[in-house]
Amino acid sequence: MNNNTKKDPFKPKHDLMVMNTLSRKKEKFEPINPGMVGMYVCGPTVYNEVHLGNCRTFFSFDLIYRYLLYLGYNVRYVRNITDVGHLVGDVDEGEEGKIEKQARLEQKEPMEIVQKYTNLFHEVMQKLNTIPPSIEPTATGHLIEQIEMVKEILANGYGYEMNGSVYFDTQKLIKEGKGIYNYGTISGKKQDDLLTETRDDLKNQNEKRHSSDFAIWVKAEENHIMKWPSPWSLGFPGWHLECSVMSTKYLGNYFDIHGGGMDLQFPHHENEVAQNVGACGCQPVKYWLHTNMLVLNGKKMSKSTGNSILPDELFTGKNNILSKAFSPMVVKFFMLQAHYASTLNITDEGLLAAEKGYLRLMEAFHILQDLEHNTTEVLTSDDEQINKMLDLAFQAMNDDFNSAAALAKLNIIIPKINSLKSGRMEMSNISKATLNNMKKVFHIFIFDIFGLLDESQQNNNENGIDLLDEAMKVIIELRQEARSKKDWSTSDLIRDKLQQIGIQIKDGKDGTSWIKN
Ligand code: AMP
Ligand code: ZN
Repeated sequence: MNNNTKKDPFKPKHDLMVMNTLSRKKEKFEPINPGMVGMYVCGPTVYNEVHLGNCRTFFSFDLIYRYLLYLGYNVRYVRNITDVGHLVGDVDEGEEGKIEKQARLEQKEPMEIVQKYTNLFHEVMQKLNTIPPSIEPTATGHLIEQIEMVKEILANGYGYEMNGSVYFDTQKLIKEGKGIYNYGTISGKKQDDLLTETRDDLKNQNEKRHSSDFAIWVKAEENHIMKWPSPWSLGFPGWHLECSVMSTKYLGNYFDIHGGGMDLQFPHHENEVAQNVGACGCQPVKYWLHTNMLVLNGKKMSKSTGNSILPDELFTGKNNILSKAFSPMVVKFFMLQAHYASTLNITDEGLLAAEKGYLRLMEAFHILQDLEHNTTEVLTSDDEQINKMLDLAFQAMNDDFNSAAALAKLNIIIPKINSLKSGRMEMSNISKATLNNMKKVFHIFIFDIFGLLDESQQNNNENGIDLLDEAMKVIIELRQEARSKKDWSTSDLIRDKLQQIGIQIKDGKDGTSWIKN
């Protein structure tokens, strides 16, 4: 073996710029270890169904994950499940956890609630064709590590105990100022605002030395169900602690990307960094990425205010703002049309336009597959324009994952593809190399980077037979048989069950047909 042969240093396919919340600037993305990326994203609190706003954030990080994979990075993607510690939010409601409250409402064990909504979350993520994270740790699975971190924070003098609860001493951090990070850097809040900020969902506000201090361990009240022993009390960890612990456990004390929705900048992410600084003396993250909000009726989509749409309401069309049902890929296309850092307003018109856009893109992809070419390699002006647009689509993704701009570049090429099909444009106007490049780049964008599925092919078997259509023929025949025996209850049951999953049966003069709602 030749010992002089060194492995080539890793070089990504393109340079990437990312907007870093820490500096509030676009920075060149250079991971801490060449070729490897550690990415942590705050996952859902599993106390009810995720709404479409939550989905937007997870979709945005799926896009980011996919693009990093496309660039050739070896990515460890950690997205947690919050199953304890996230309090209801209203101080007057006491210290009831969101999960406990839902458990009481549904008369279930808190862990049944956690399992039920985790399963539903996974189902939705699968429908939206997002890639599961490499690790999906839970807060309750990391209580020992959380207690250890509270001990470290106390040992380093950044925390204090009061009547069985432990608080983080924000004043110490503010006075000291730690290198590039000081309390307030993530949220961009001024020190004066932080001094008066009271965003802790605890009753015992008077226990804190300062209003901006926050709980890292909470002594549980008598009737609290989710509680664990600790050196300070029978209690539970503060919400922010789990992410400080689980991110660094799986990605190291200093890792590449931490993400979440913008609404998490304060207090969640600010307090998360404070805890890591308190525990190990270092700011844990190189690039903080924050996604913007999905807006409905001019306001942030949010379950607690009732201003929300559930993904299944979109997929079945059962919501007052919708004129019809929209498929998961149309919803995904709708979200791709906006840069992750811009707000996105959801409307029926927007979804109808996205449906047209998705179908147009997929049709162009199908046309491209069928186009064949065997003439010259000579470049024409059409060649130049097409190759330039393909290149600009990648440049848009390199500019902070701008899927909206990338899609716009691909859209410029679509009329040319349609002209090639209809014969309005001669095949000899483009070279074979350009045709192949188009085929390759459209495939990469549609399936690898955007993560879209070809819904027109979804039910087909390898012979192109629509399996749903075949299965529906069998169901309709069985229903017909029941009707001929005057077994109306079976016949109605079949119709109602199909209706529930979004398939409508129509009995007409020419027999029975079906449509998707
Ligand atoms: P939660 O389960 O409340 O912790 O939220 C899970 C994720 O969804 C967080 O990253 C939030 O920032 C994000 N999120 C909540 N509401 C919206 C919204 N309207 N648009 C986009 N992301 C949101
Ligand atoms: Zn978090």
